[in-house]
Formats: sequence, structure tokens, C-alpha cells
Amino acid sequence: MIDKNTQEKTNDNKNFIEEIIDKHLLEGRFSSVKTRFPPEPNGYLHIGHAKSICLNFGIAKKYNGTCNLRFDDTNPTKEEQEYIDSIKEDIRWLGFQWDKECYASDYFEQLYEWAIVLIKKDKAYVCDCPQEVISRNRTKPTEPGIACEHRDRSIEENLLLFEKMRNGEFPAGSRVLRAKIDLNSPNMHMRDPIMYRILYEEHPRTANKWCIYPNYDWAHGQSDSIEHITHSICTLEFEVHRPLYEWFIKELEIWAPQQIEFARLNLSYTIMSKRKLLQLVEGKYVSGWDDPRMPTISGLRRRGFTPESIKMFADIIGVAKRDNLIEYELLEHCLREDLNKRAERRMAVLDPLKLIITNYPDNEDELLDAINNPEDPISSTRQIPFSKEIYIERTDFQENPQKDYHRFYVGNEVRLRWAYFVKCTGFKKDNNGNIIEIYGEYDPASKGGNSPDGRKVKSTIHWVSAKHAVPIEVRLYDKLFTVPEPDNAEEGKTFLDYLNPQSLITTTAYGEPSLGEFIVPAHYQFERLGYFVTDPDSTSDHLVYNLITKLKDSFAKKRQ
Ligand code: ATP
Ligand code: MG
Repeated sequence: MIDKNTQEKTNDNKNFIEEIIDKHLLEGRFSSVKTRFPPEPNGYLHIGHAKSICLNFGIAKKYNGTCNLRFDDTNPTKEEQEYIDSIKEDIRWLGFQWDKECYASDYFEQLYEWAIVLIKKDKAYVCDCPQEVISRNRTKPTEPGIACEHRDRSIEENLLLFEKMRNGEFPAGSRVLRAKIDLNSPNMHMRDPIMYRILYEEHPRTANKWCIYPNYDWAHGQSDSIEHITHSICTLEFEVHRPLYEWFIKELEIWAPQQIEFARLNLSYTIMSKRKLLQLVEGKYVSGWDDPRMPTISGLRRRGFTPESIKMFADIIGVAKRDNLIEYELLEHCLREDLNKRAERRMAVLDPLKLIITNYPDNEDELLDAINNPEDPISSTRQIPFSKEIYIERTDFQENPQKDYHRFYVGNEVRLRWAYFVKCTGFKKDNNGNIIEIYGEYDPASKGGNSPDGRKVKSTIHWVSAKHAVPIEVRLYDKLFTVPEPDNAEEGKTFLDYLNPQSLITTTAYGEPSLGEFIVPAHYQFERLGYFVTDPDSTSDHLVYNLITKLKDSFAKKRQ
């Protein structure tokens, strides 16, 4: 069932990252394991981050080590407290606890001092070239780069200019501090990368203390080092940054973590970039970051995904060294695996058709026993009311039954789940020819849905008693996009052109009485329909249920 491409594990079931760690421990390079999860607080976490969280916290746990949560807050224009709060909530919800809560901004002073160390070693200089000139002078990987006149500045001049940069004596964007490495390196990241830029922007934590901000490459590795991280696990696009990561550490002669790269998660029928997710939120294509169609952790939570199902998903996809696309169905499959064992069953009718049981006493009703979860050997039970008039799904009756149709048609007998055998005896149409109700006769001896004399029926259907049913709002969610790779848009189109107009259909269903009880969140399997969860929009007199996923498991079928 596991796609060969999704993970690379050795015989003793270790992934390649664990193999590297084992080697380090054996050789004595490190004596314990310390990882970190380093989100930039510029949006909500998504399922890709969940993979990274499971990996970093999972490895720390496996090796009896620790994992820090570090906010990579070096870009004050895009970062907000709301995002910091949501990130912490999401990690806790997944079931992980960080060791230290850290902020790259707490290291700004140390980073500044280290920049001075590099300037004093003639390994960094202040450059006045505009960004376009810097890029142009880097030329191409196959050609030597061009040095600007600032590269030869004296150490004294650089120290003075850098101090002035910090003191706010230059306009935004007018100068940068660059590492002095190698303008001819085939790796463009080594062609004198930018360490600091001037930016007059209030920072959520350091307010207006700083007007120079470190770039990712300068902040990240040094933050890892300050925290004595042993293994700095990141996604593949940072592989080309690794020589730079190691260069800074070596020049500063500080604690040296090992950077290890793995393939980022790409999931079909969705997008993963925070910038694009923000576009969906701001453009009101969705109701917010936690819209149940969003691939964010908060969206998946509201949709009804459980932490267990997300962790199972992360475990199955494992870690790979090559990028690939994981099917969305795998995530749904994990949810079904989890909820099939744990979710209580309920009956609800989405598209009701009335069935009148003509031989059932008028004005009477009774309570029938139902097992809450037949998959659970010690399941509790509940009682459901039964009466003369019940609702069934409209699709559970056919006037002219097609081949192999075993549900209601005149003359056919069907089992009503937990109730009785009922034989269909007729139906009634309105003036337009629409079927408005059907009739049947029940067999009192089949109470509980058991055959009284060994006679068999081929179908069991769900139902609710009409006078006891509670109306519930049901939000039927489907994929947000119509194509597997919305990021791969045709020319002239963007991912927004592939939004699925049918991704949310809201309807009123009739549920058995217990579905009117206000519990948030409560996960259920609506028999024969799918898994549902109560939405936080619910109130005690208006219950809202989200469809998490239908029952049909196309993923398992495809793999058979
Ligand atoms: P995005 O491009 O979605 O904004 P990002 O990489 O900029 O993502 P960060 O907040 O910097 O987001 O990421 C925090 C951590 O999560 C990083 O270590 C990053 O490598 C990891 N990560 C981000 N996206 C994925 C993904 N799709 N699969 C696995 N790990 C991811
Ligand atoms: Mg990032």
C-alpha cells in the first residue's frame, strides 16, 4: 500500500536521516540529539509543516533528545503575533511539546557582534550597490562574477559604515552588509551573499530597536548554533545553501550543527505556499485560514482531521530525498483508518423521502437498541426512536429498479438498520410526477433487524424517525481545486483559475435525536454516508456538521 517513492528506509526501518544521526552518535560527533522546528510567523502552518513537525519532534523523541520551537522572525513586514499564537496552538494540538520557545530576534545582538567579527577578519563588507547591480555582477554560475569597488573597503571603513547602518544614518535599502567569500564560485549563494539589509519597520518583538535585519542565511545557521542544535533538518531547496551555512560557522568558530535536507511534501489538489494561502484568505475565496477546505493545520482540524490521522500520514509518507506528489486520498485514507476504530456511528438522512409503514400502530413509538461502534468489541450502545413515519434517502427507492438494485422498490424487502425488515408496497406521486412518499409493511418478528426465519434481504439502509428527527446543517466539502496540481497552471492562468465551484454545498439533513446534542468537536460516522464532525459555528439549537470524507476508500481500492 505504500508507494515505493514515498520513503527510503533501510531494513531496520530507519530513514536516511536516522542513519546519519546514528553514525554521528557512534563516531562521537554528538552525544545527544537536539532538533528545532523553525517557522517564519508569516502565516498559519499547513500540512507540509506538519510533516516537518512530526519529523523534528519525532526524531527528538526517538533519540531521547529535545526539539526547540524557533520563530524565524527576521522579516518584520510580514510577521504577526496572530501567526505566532496559531503556530503554538497547532503544534500542541498535534501532540508535541517543544523544549525552548526561541525567537531569532532574541539573537539580533549576538548576530550583530558576529558580523563585526567577520568584518574584522576582512570576511564581510558594506556594499552600496543597488540590488539589481549586485545580482547583475554575480553574472552566471558558468562565468566569473564582477567585484564592485566596495569590495576593497578597509576594515576600518567597513566597521564605521556598519555601525552607521545600525544607527539609522542611511536610508532604507541604500546599503547592505555582504559576506566576502568567492565571486567565482559555481554556487551563486557563495558569491558574496547579503547578510544585512536596512529596513525601517517596527518589529513585533524588538519594536524600533533595529533598522538592520539579518537575511535568512545569516540568521538561520547562527541561531541553530546558539541553541546547540545537533541536526538542522530542512527542505531540499536549502541543499545549495549548505556550503554557506557551513562557511559562516567555520569562520566564526562556533558550535557546528549538521544541516540535513529532505523532500518537501507536495499534496495533490492543493497548494502549500503561505503566500498563496494568504491570497485565498485575503481574496475571500475561503472563509479564513481555518476554512475546512484549507490545507492548513487549523483548516484540517476544523474539517475534522484528527492529530492521529495526520501523524499516521506523516509516518506513511516518511522522508525522501527526491520531491514527489502525494495523493490527497492517502490523507483521507489515514483519517478513515483512525475514525473507523474510534468514531461512534449515527444515522442521518441527507435527501429525505418519507416512508410510511402502514401496518405499524398509529401514534405509537418505541426505542430500539443500536451499537455505537460495531468495530469496537466493547462499544457502548444507544437507543433510537422508531415510529410509523420515517425518512430514508431518496436514492434508496427506485420506481423502476435498475439491474442489481437491492434497495426499496415495490415488492422488495429491505432491512432498516437496527430496526425491522420492511417490504415496499407502493408509492405516491405529486401532480408533477415527483415521488413524494412510499409505503411499506414491517415484520414485527424481525425486531432489531434480525431475520425471524432465516429469510435474507440484500440491503440494509439507514433511516430516521420523522417526528423525532432533528434538522441539522450539513456542510458537504469537496476538494478546493479541480486539478491535481493547481500550481502548475497553464499559460495565462493562475491557481485561482482552478478553484472548485462545488467545494462547499450546504444542506439541511435530518439526524437521529442524539445529533442535536451540542458537543464540539464530536466526530461521527454517519452510516453509509461518511465521517462528519461538529463545526464551531454550532450553537445549542443549531448544529452544524462538516463532511470530513466520504466512506468510499478509493485509495485502498486503487492499490489492491
Ligand atoms: P512556505 O513556502 O509554505 O511559506 P516556508 O518554507 O517558507 O513555507 P517556514 O515557516 O519557513 O515556511 O517553514 C518552517 C519549516 O517547515 C522549515 O523547516 C521548512 O523547511 C518546513 N516546511 C515548509 N513547507 C514544507 C513542506 N511542504 N514539506 C515539508 N516541510 C516543509
Ligand atoms: Mg521560509
